[in-house]
Amino acid sequence: MGTNRVVQGRMVTPKRLAELIEDSEVIEAEPIADADRDCPDCGGDVLEVGYMPSALSFVTGWKCQECDWSEREEGD
Ligand SMILES: [Zn+2]
Repeated sequence: MGTNRVVQGRMVTPKRLAELIEDSEVIEAEPIADADRDCPDCGGDVLEVGYMPSALSFVTGWKCQECDWSEREEGD
């Protein structure tokens, strides 16, 4: 799949990326996108992925490709 990306040296699927951000399993994830921002910790490139940690919630998550930094924001 073309949506897989390298994060911290490892190839991840959208679902795996979401699970790294959530630190838990997720039920569904959208394709990975490039976020229009740099990592506040190391200045590296940041990826964005929307995902559903449960059937009733939607989260947008961001994760640095180079370091452990990540952030999440609950949707409406
Ligand atoms: Zn970083």
